[in-house]
Parts: sequence; structure tokens; C-alpha cells
Amino acid sequence: MTDKYAVIGNPITHSKSPQIHKMFAEQTGQDISYEAILAPKDGFAETIERLRKEGYKGCSVTVPFKFEAFNLVRALQDAQPMQGVCSQLAANAGAANTLTFHQDFVNGDNTDGIGLVRDIKQNLLYPLKGKHILLMGAGGAASGVLQPLLHEHPKKLTIANRTLEKADKLHQLYAHLPQTELSTCTYSDLNGSFDIIINATSVGLTDIEIPLPPSIFAPDGLAYDMMYGRETPFMKFACAHGAQIADGLGMLVEQASEAFFIWCGVRPRTAPVITALLKS
Ligand code: NDP
Repeated sequence: MTDKYAVIGNPITHSKSPQIHKMFAEQTGQDISYEAILAPKDGFAETIERLRKEGYKGCSVTVPFKFEAFNLVRALQDAQPMQGVCSQLAANAGAANTLTFHQDFVNGDNTDGIGLVRDIKQNLLYPLKGKHILLMGAGGAASGVLQPLLHEHPKKLTIANRTLEKADKLHQLYAHLPQTELSTCTYSDLNGSFDIIINATSVGLTDIEIPLPPSIFAPDGLAYDMMYGRETPFMKFACAHGAQIADGLGMLVEQASEAFFIWCGVRPRTAPVITALLKS
């Protein structure tokens, strides 16, 4: 019988996850279906409940539901008897992007950070060790990638966010790590230059431009936008100021391959899938 999976988000029509999982399934011979599902902004828990009742085996979770997905699994974990478990990565991030549904049990995981680090290091060939990194955003995606980024031992990592308190909350989780100088600020307080600038805000879904000082791009620096499928105002601005630019397509495929491995126990090759998506 075909195992059913889905990606849940709002908005969701831009998602390439169904195409990616279809290619993974063909490549590995797994019998799965995977569809995109729009959940109402106040209807995430009900949507998950429905999918579980309908026999889905799991789902990816995207903007804006990653914190809610984590809280949902955490609540199941606290229930008597325990009905959920979060992986260490999801627990550290307080956000989940991959849910696996068992009979009476839900697993919450976070594969975003693995996906981002693999894309930057292995696909784009940018080392992270010893670098100055700017992480823009403090939402579900930024929370998910922070620990795996710090694991690579950058020299400095600055978290910039519109709402400073949210960046400070993330900072508190990792301030004790000795190898990286970790700091927070708002966009208007940014100064200095960075080797790698990662846009993990959701503004790429719109035409809003976050005002940034042009001096933040180090020569030959990488400007990485987690958004994919369109040239965002951030990418245009970075390109105009001498940075190399990359979108989040590679990250999307890499995080999806980790989710596919969690669900199906086989790790698909990502390079042919990235190439096929770029061609299409
Ligand atoms: P969230 O809704 O959890 O967080 C949104 C973030 O964007 C917050 O930091 C928020 O700041 C900021 N933001 C929103 N509007 C503005 C604005 N007008 N000006 C400045 N900052 C703003 O979303 P996620 O973290 O889940 O997702 C973020 C993006 O990353 C999405 O575009 C998503 O598609 C992409 N993504 C891509 C992945 C990939 O594989 N390529 C994987 C994961 C995510 P504040 O805290 O102040 O509200």
C-alpha cells in the first residue's frame, strides 16, 4: 500500500517539496505519495489530527508552523501515557520541520540545519569554520539552523532580527559555547562585514526589502537566501554589492533527503534532484 506524506504550510503553493519527494521515491523505489496541504493559520493542530486519522505516515512542516509543530509534539510527550518524542535537534531549536506518525505516537525532528550546512559546505563549497556569519531572522527556520551552524565553529555569529527579544532568546540558548562569539542586534544596528550572510526571514515570500548597510558583505562573501524559486530583494541587493548569491533550493533538497531518510530508511542522492529542479 502507498505510504502517504505531505507538506503543511501557509502559504504553500510555491513549495517544491512534492516534486522533490516524488524524485526521491522514483530514485529509491519507495512507494510513497506526497502532496502540499494548505492549513488555515489557526488550524495547524486540526490539520495534523485529520492527517493522522486518514493514515498519513508523516509530514514536513513549513512557514509559519514550525514552533507550533514542536509544541504539539511536546504536549504529546507530556501526556499520560507519553504519545510523542522530539529529537535533540528539534528540542534545542524549539521548532520541528519533520513529523513522523506512528499508530499512537508522533516523532518531531528538525532537518533544516543539516540541510543548510550540507548545502553551504558540500554543494557551494564554502567552509564555515572560522568565518563571520550573519543570521537574519529568529523564527522557526533560524532556530532550526542555529545549532548545526555553531557546530561548525564559526569565529563570530550575529543574529539580527526585527524583534530583538526573539534574537536574544536564541542567544541565551547558546551563549555558553566558547568557540564562537555570539551576538544579537536589530538590522539598524548592524555594523562590520560578514563572510556569510543567511536570510532566514520570511520576507523573501514578499517584495519587502529589509534595509541593510552595503558594507556588511565581505569581499567574495556569500549571501544565502533560504527562499527559493525567485530572485528576492535581498539577493538583488547582495549581488549589486559584490556578494556571491545562492538561494535555498539546495537546502530544501538536502533537508528533504534527511526527512526521507527518517521516514523510509534510505538516503536518496541529492545532486541529480537539484540539477533536475534547476533545469525545470
Ligand atoms: P517564521 O514565520 O517562523 O519566521 C519569520 C521570520 O521573518 C522572523 O524572524 C520575522 O521577524 C521575520 N520577518 C517577517 N516579516 C518581516 C519583515 N517585514 N521585516 C523583517 N523581518 C521580518 O518563518 P520560518 O522561520 O519558518 O521561515 C522563514 C523563511 O525561510 C521562509 O521564507 C521559508 O520558506 C524559508 N525556509 C526555507 C527552507 C529551505 O529549505 N530552503 C527551510 C526553512 C525555511 P520577527 O521575529 O520580528 O517577526
